[in-house]
Amino acid sequence: MSEAWCKVYDAGNALEAHSLKGMLEARQIEVHLSGEGLGAAAGELPANVVEVGVWVKASQQSCAHLLLEEYEHADPSGWICSACGEANGSQFELCWQCGQDRLAES
Ligand SMILES: [Zn+2]
Repeated sequence: MSEAWCKVYDAGNALEAHSLKGMLEARQIEVHLSGEGLGAAAGELPANVVEVGVWVKASQQSCAHLLLEEYEHADPSGWICSACGEANGSQFELCWQCGQDRLAES
């Protein structure tokens, strides 16, 4: 019995797609990637692919969404709000949760 697959994310490149795949698979979520160069040797990332779709089974879609949100919050150049502890992306100058300035001391 085959199950429907849903695209949950458009990765900017194959490297990001593979790290997402590993992250989701570590949580027992099956992942398919689309858009990669066909016939690429295992471990070899095609450099010319612009966008890679990340697909999961329909039944695991909501779980995958939560993990992807977590992933986006875990921006390595992001910052943690000194007032409320919320994780913010590096592009934000104010905490999206409480409005505290990024550089404010607690
Ligand atoms: Zn805050």
